[in-house]
Amino acid sequence: MKRVRVVVLGAGVVGFSTAVCVAEALPLCSVTVLAERFSPDTTSDGAAGIAFAAEFPDIPLERQRRWFKDSFDHLLAIAQSQHSPDAGIMLSSGWQIFKEVPAKKKPFWSDFVIGFRTMTDGELKRFPDHRFGQAFTTVKCECSSYLPWLEERFRKAGGRVEQRKVNSLQELSNSFDVIVNCSGLGSKVLVGDTSVYPVRGQVLKVEAPWLTHFIRDGDGKTYIYPGMHSVTVGGTRQEGDWRLHVDQGDTESILERCSRLEPSLKKAKVLSQWVGLRPSRRNPRVERETVELQGRTLPVVHNYGHGGWGVTIAWGTALDALGLVRQCLKEMPHQAKL
Ligand SMILES: Cc1cc2nc3c(=O)[nH]c(=O)nc-3n(C[C@H](O)[C@H](O)[C@H](O)COP(=O)(O)OP(=O)(O)OC[C@H]3O[C@@H](n4cnc5c(N)ncnc54)[C@H](O)[C@@H]3O)c2cc1C
Repeated sequence: MKRVRVVVLGAGVVGFSTAVCVAEALPLCSVTVLAERFSPDTTSDGAAGIAFAAEFPDIPLERQRRWFKDSFDHLLAIAQSQHSPDAGIMLSSGWQIFKEVPAKKKPFWSDFVIGFRTMTDGELKRFPDHRFGQAFTTVKCECSSYLPWLEERFRKAGGRVEQRKVNSLQELSNSFDVIVNCSGLGSKVLVGDTSVYPVRGQVLKVEAPWLTHFIRDGDGKTYIYPGMHSVTVGGTRQEGDWRLHVDQGDTESILERCSRLEPSLKKAKVLSQWVGLRPSRRNPRVERETVELQGRTLPVVHNYGHGGWGVTIAWGTALDALGLVRQCLKEMPHQAKL
């Protein structure tokens, strides 16, 4: 019987998570990851990769909780296994601090991370500009290791990869039976989604091996995330800004803001600087549709628009996308029983 040909468009953390889920769960499909850019050149590669999230306004909270929990459990299992160093995933403890007490003192994911609690007044003393804080242990996932690790897992499951730019979904209509669109910001042009926009983020990697705890300002603009090989300090959240070059003013501002939270950073050596564009949208788009491409009706499963939380929820949305692919297969006439 003819194998169903699935193409996953995009090789960032969302694309490869989805590709692994599909290839491992549906061995009777042939799965190809097709992308213009692979690691180390995707947005995902530069993400700080710390797992926590903001709430999306129009997605039922239950679904967001499931995305978070499925992803967190997946990443935690790797962090606690022998694969941790190869996959670039580690446990990370620290503090999220707020200048004003937030409306929701307990975010929706607080039950899933480890040991979530409100900081004591004593703990807050070292942050005199902040009035409230949360302490917890989460995971940090460094995509420059995780993406190659996922790619290997994908190849072991029989997946294939191909590097090229796709200018229109039409180009795929003869070679594939199901399209899974994980093209992030690329969806703006590829599927004409005008609601996708960039949120520019600049970060620095510094050498500061004495730092072991993360510190994040609740406004999301200033953070210090110790990782396996360096400490990521940031950042910026510039909506609608497409600039991909390092801005010296941003560098100075990041170092100044981070040193205010952690004065020892003044002694840290800057190793590298990086800019990425978060593929933002009011809500991520995880849904399917049917499109007419060159006279052929094809199912398309969308999984993009994760904004600043793609590493955090990639596995959860990938499992949802897998469910949508299964539905597409069930509705296909004369296909293999999968
Ligand atoms: C500074 C910064 C810090 C961040 N920190 C965190 C964090 O701590 N935690 C967290 O969860 N998230 C974080 N993020 C967000 C995270 O990086 C993104 O949500 C995530 O990388 C999105 O993954 P993606 O796979 O959708 O997109 P991408 O990684 O951008 O991948 C998109 C893929 O689609 C391909 N593509 C697009 N268009 C086409 C086309 N026309 N033809 C062929 N291929 C195409 C690209 O080549 C690429 O392979 C951060 C982001 C930035 C910028």
